[in-house]
Amino acid sequence: MQDIPGAWRRTARGAGLLPPETSTGAAGIPAPTIFAEMTALAVRTGAINLGQGFPDEDGPAEVLEAARRAIADGANQYAPGRGVPVLREAIAAHQRRFYGLTPDPAREVLVTAGATEALAATLLALIDSPEDEVVVFEPYYDSYAACVALAGAKLVTVPLRWPHFQPDQGELERAVTDRTRIILVNDPHNPTGAVFSAAVREQVVRLAHRHDAWIVTDEVYEHLVFDEPHVPIATIPGAAERTLTISSAGKTFSTTGWKIGWITGPAALIDAVLAVKQFLTYVNGTPFQSAIAVGLGLPDAFFGGIAATLRAKRDLLGAGLAAAGLDVSVAAGSYFTVADAATLMDEGTDAGDFCRALPERSGVVAIPLTAFVSPGHRADYATLVRFAACKRTDVIAEASRRLSSA
Ligand code: PMP
Ligand code: GLN
Repeated sequence: MQDIPGAWRRTARGAGLLPPETSTGAAGIPAPTIFAEMTALAVRTGAINLGQGFPDEDGPAEVLEAARRAIADGANQYAPGRGVPVLREAIAAHQRRFYGLTPDPAREVLVTAGATEALAATLLALIDSPEDEVVVFEPYYDSYAACVALAGAKLVTVPLRWPHFQPDQGELERAVTDRTRIILVNDPHNPTGAVFSAAVREQVVRLAHRHDAWIVTDEVYEHLVFDEPHVPIATIPGAAERTLTISSAGKTFSTTGWKIGWITGPAALIDAVLAVKQFLTYVNGTPFQSAIAVGLGLPDAFFGGIAATLRAKRDLLGAGLAAAGLDVSVAAGSYFTVADAATLMDEGTDAGDFCRALPERSGVVAIPLTAFVSPGHRADYATLVRFAACKRTDVIAEASRRLSSA
């Protein structure tokens, strides 16, 4: 019998779900993603889930009602390949309204099955050869390493270090070379909550020009920034013609289960991604697409409100973690806060052991940062833990109380 096909194994190994030494023979079972594992643990133990990043309250009623209406009105068949026109127009209008960008909704906008499919299709479309390198900041969102491996390229990492998680610009400069095909930037950043400095954003553009690389950005937390307005890399002079900008409705409208994402950028690049995307999901979520168009048109007060609400939750969570004896890195954006749990950890254990024991010990679930780094770099993040702030304030308060009393 033939061995299990290579892409499966490459992806699982790239994501750290199979040990590097596993080669031929029996298929092996990849571990579930850290998010699936930790949510299952929360369900099994009844612990408060500050692990997987999903809100525990519904988003705007207008958006939910628009989806119900779309279903009632019969928007229940395949959408056009690039997305329903009303959503593509709303995405273009959103880019213009918030950032002064002017993508053509007909050619420069593509609707995807969440940011996850946008990332997968983009990497599969743009990666050409096994020699291609994709530069990412580490820790990185789990699907990056998996999709780079699936596409058969090499992942090159630039470390983000506790407590500020800004890259060293010398290290970034050395990571980008003529072998770099893509610089992939997640800003605001999951898991660290960092928002990159203007100097870093500009350096990414300079390096992409110097080495003729594409820039791919993951901006799913674009409206969840706490200090300054979000700045897409595509707005930096010289960036737009080589940048694909990815975002998603999940975080902005608290609809992570709808899986509506999108990409904006140059028409030729969008065409290349569409060529791949049409054979992944083809299309998805027709009634949800038009509902998200309603969401993108909500007044400024909505967008300012979600950032202010999450900022207050970040502060509540940060105070609770500090009271429990953890050292806290104050997030500038995203759903997440990272804390150093060294003082609570037993000798010889790491954040993975700590998080797997925490539900029984304290009734709280969190995610170890070691899940977001390459196996060889885990020691550098061994005491760091990610907590999600996108939960009700009474839930955050109760989690804090449990952590303090444990
Ligand atoms: N990128 C980042 C940085 C994320 O945190 C997430 C998920 N939360 C995604 C991509 C995936 O987004 P989606 O659920 O829209 O696929
Ligand atoms: N993005 C979410 C997080 O970081 C998880 C999404 C998923 O489970 N794939 O927690």
